[in-house]
Amino acid sequence: MPIKTIELDQSTREEEVTLVIGKNLVIKLIENEQVKKLISEPIVQILLKTKNLCHKDFVEKMNKLIKISPIPIESVMRYRYPGFLIHEPERKEIVRRLKKDSRYFIKEVKETEKSMLNLEFEIKKFNPSLEILQPVTLQLCNVCRNPLFTIPKGTQEGKPRVAHVRNKREPFRRISFYRAIMSEEIHPIKGEFRGDLKCIFCNSLVTRDKACRLNIHEVHPSIREVWTRGIWLEEFLASLLRRKEWQTWTHLHMLGMSGIPHEIDILGIKKGFILIAECKTGKLARSDIFTFSTKITDLKSHVALFMSLLPLPDPETREFLTKNPMVILLENACEFKEEGIEVKLSEGALRNI
Ligand SMILES: [Zn+2]
Repeated sequence: MPIKTIELDQSTREEEVTLVIGKNLVIKLIENEQVKKLISEPIVQILLKTKNLCHKDFVEKMNKLIKISPIPIESVMRYRYPGFLIHEPERKEIVRRLKKDSRYFIKEVKETEKSMLNLEFEIKKFNPSLEILQPVTLQLCNVCRNPLFTIPKGTQEGKPRVAHVRNKREPFRRISFYRAIMSEEIHPIKGEFRGDLKCIFCNSLVTRDKACRLNIHEVHPSIREVWTRGIWLEEFLASLLRRKEWQTWTHLHMLGMSGIPHEIDILGIKKGFILIAECKTGKLARSDIFTFSTKITDLKSHVALFMSLLPLPDPETREFLTKNPMVILLENACEFKEEGIEVKLSEGALRNI
């Protein structure tokens, strides 16, 4: 196949481009390498093999688990320590109160842990080889039993983490570190650490051999990413399309007629027909539907598929999509099992392809 390539600009050297060349059409597409790598991970592959992946029975449990893990240390600490008041430093008293608070914290962590393990058990009923949770060790201060945190560089050593409250009704010092926790500038230590660390609560220097450990679980980070970014739904729909002999690419940028690169969830090609699909896992806005419609026009695709786990925002958007005979609408997809979706993929504009 003699094809001449003429470099118009630097993009030919900077991007990993796939060109689809037909008699009357050329498509330039750029895949997201980072997502491709993420999808190829064995744990993600196991998740994607779950039968009826988009059905609400499975989705609801996954959403719940992702919401409560990793152990919400930030929120627990925020809850326990907002405006925690200390009388003029009396160390013994401070440590005693911190120890008391840590008991609540550990109790809450253990309760969350229990709910997580229960959910994992439920999820395994759908896919017995899916190990969503991984063990993690939290490091605790051996003096006050509160979690140890990493403090980013630039935070001054020994700088007091208390703010003065000069108020007659409140003649105390107010611990202000919870603000740093809320803004996620500091993170709880998971796994081991080197050297020694200062406890941000009681200021003790904690060495590795003295630190207390709390064994917990958290959702595997790759699963979390694939789930929260909605990548799983794109991969699921693409796999159903492949069963119908479509060649698919997921998570890519495609150049439209206008020269604007569009973010596309799935591109499918079969018998010279071009299909683009959009997958939505969360709440929809009207603009999502109209943006998709613009993509269809600009990309000159022959068929388009709009899949949403939830119903469309209003009847007008539904009418807008269903009036276009080249669009297949798959709303409320969490009510469907695989067979149901496969039926939809053989209807309407897809019937004769
Ligand atoms: Zn401490």
